[in-house]
Amino acid sequence: DASNLKQITPWLWEFPTAGNMRVPARIYGDRALVAAMDDAVIRQLANVAALPGIVRAALAMPDAHSGFGFPIGGVAAFDPDQDGVICMGGVGYDIACGVRVLHTGLRREEIQPHLEALMDQFQLLVPAGVGGTGGIQLKAGELDRVLVQGARWAVKQGYGTREDLERLEDGGAMSGAVPETVSDQARKREKRQLGTLGAGNHYLEIQCVEEVLHPSAGLLGVASDDVLISVHCGSRGLGHQIGTDYIRILGEAARRHRIPIPEKELVCAPIRSSEAERYYQAMACGANYAMANRQMIVHLIREAFQRVLPGVQVRTLFEVNHNTCRREDHPVEGRSRPLYVHRKGATRAFGPESPQIQEPFRRTGQPILVGGSMGTDSYILAGRESSEDAFASTCHGSGRALSRSQALKRTPGRDVLTQLTSRGILIRTNHLKGLAEEAPAAYKDIHQVVEASTQAGLTNKFARLSPLGCLKG
Ligand code: 5GP
Ligand code: MN
Ligand code: MN
Repeated sequence: DASNLKQITPWLWEFPTAGNMRVPARIYGDRALVAAMDDAVIRQLANVAALPGIVRAALAMPDAHSGFGFPIGGVAAFDPDQDGVICMGGVGYDIACGVRVLHTGLRREEIQPHLEALMDQFQLLVPAGVGGTGGIQLKAGELDRVLVQGARWAVKQGYGTREDLERLEDGGAMSGAVPETVSDQARKREKRQLGTLGAGNHYLEIQCVEEVLHPSAGLLGVASDDVLISVHCGSRGLGHQIGTDYIRILGEAARRHRIPIPEKELVCAPIRSSEAERYYQAMACGANYAMANRQMIVHLIREAFQRVLPGVQVRTLFEVNHNTCRREDHPVEGRSRPLYVHRKGATRAFGPESPQIQEPFRRTGQPILVGGSMGTDSYILAGRESSEDAFASTCHGSGRALSRSQALKRTPGRDVLTQLTSRGILIRTNHLKGLAEEAPAAYKDIHQVVEASTQAGLTNKFARLSPLGCLKG
């Protein structure tokens, strides 16, 4: 448990290499955050640290909590020249879950009289909920194009602009996607889910900039009292099925390649094996689906504005994924190496000037939206060069403090709704029980989490946002 951790700095803690571990496990966070993490986080990191070819350390970000094999908030990089592996558990089931951030061009007082109407239109136009469909029906053969072209497909169909694409990871299309690696079952689960939000933790939120926290925030186009929108969702049933399919394939591969697997949720295959290659190709398809999905939702948001506040131009500020494995270059012992960086519930945080981020962010560093909860602040952070110690990564949210079942027992959904409404936050949902699971008290203190990320040198704080209205999945 946490008493076995060695303090490296007040913001970084280490569980030294022991047993079958190849590298240490390291956790970012202040003493209290790290002490409050469930013990399974350290156990899971120690297991990840035992995988072949892992570089430097198995890492957890300050929002970490235990997950499927890897912690949520987990980061691990593997070297193909050191028998490194690709591991489905390091990506998770919701491939390329991520957050798009939009600027409405409006200020707080301009949106206030239209908030109710806007939230109603969002609820009407954006399908939400578990297993929800109601998205667009793709023509035969069209899905393959979505899987390769991602958000670029959506823009080509007229659901967005070229300016949107410039601010997405890889311009909205992750390379390496091969549609043949995606099963029929995954394709079946896709039916009419493109342009849908999904379940509970996913959201569409109108936010107001309460405080600008960095002189470079202006370069991003963010000022005090600006009204922004965050869209958090992922690859829906299709991404989940890709995960399910490949956990079996990677399980067989691990046996065939005789990789010692510390726990069955960490099945993996050597980066250069055909199984890992296929998983990467399928995962890229999932990522492209997720980016197309968010682009479709952006289109629906613009339609809602068209109905309520015609003439308003909604622009994309940025988008960042938080469940991915990517081939990226990172310095290892002074030499740049191509590594496979797994980030689950963690985002990239490359600093300014990095060639690995989109051109519009070269002066600010990679912008990141760190969600708090539907009842607390969220933050915009930006990556820093010193994040390289963590393979240019940071946290993706406040992270759960209570499991869903614990949260369900705590406060009924109806009461959560009443509390939020009385604070002037407009909530829309089709699923009251989901509100209980997502109650603000179920999450850690967002301020503490982003402070830890900042003090640890991973990011700078750019802006603090408060929720005005939230459509919950
Ligand atoms: P995950 O991707 O792990 O499901 O969640 C991402 C993060 O989003 C959570 O750690 C939580 O802090 C945050 N979050 C969850 N629900 C909401 C919400 O309705 N609004 C905002 N702003 N953040 C949320
Ligand atoms: Mn998700
Ligand atoms: Mn997510």
